[in-house]
Amino acid sequence: KTITTGAPKTHIADSLIRTTLTGWITAGTVPPWDANTLYFIYMDKGVKVTMGGSSSCTSFCGYHDAMSGKKYYAVMPFPSCAGCLGGLSVQDALTGTSSHELCEAITDPVPPTGWYDNANGEIGDICAWKFKTIAGYNVQLEWSNKAKSCI
Ligand SMILES: [Zn+2]
Repeated sequence: KTITTGAPKTHIADSLIRTTLTGWITAGTVPPWDANTLYFIYMDKGVKVTMGGSSSCTSFCGYHDAMSGKKYYAVMPFPSCAGCLGGLSVQDALTGTSSHELCEAITDPVPPTGWYDNANGEIGDICAWKFKTIAGYNVQLEWSNKAKSCI
């Protein structure tokens, strides 16, 4: 779903993303919440996302988190900087980062209370920038304790 009302033009803070998402859920703008819902929010090109003291492209290429009441969400800035493209096309970078955050939102839905390693972070962080193609899409490898490797 594309929501353009009030869309940020240059930057947006995570706190405003949370407030906005809460409003969308309440208004029925997005599908209703349940415990298995993960809201992915994709930003327009050129919109910088800030969270705490860090910002997209400088510190992160995407992230997932939880609001109170287990309302899970992931934020995907448009990959337009070298650090988040990593030499990939925009689409491959977007699906790569999206798959990274999707898997982590499942294994560590409320960071860092799930699968979280103090040295290596979440399962996607261990395997960052390692990819494979599934059904024509670039997806990131994720850590497997069973295989003891990125699969
Ligand atoms: Zn990660």
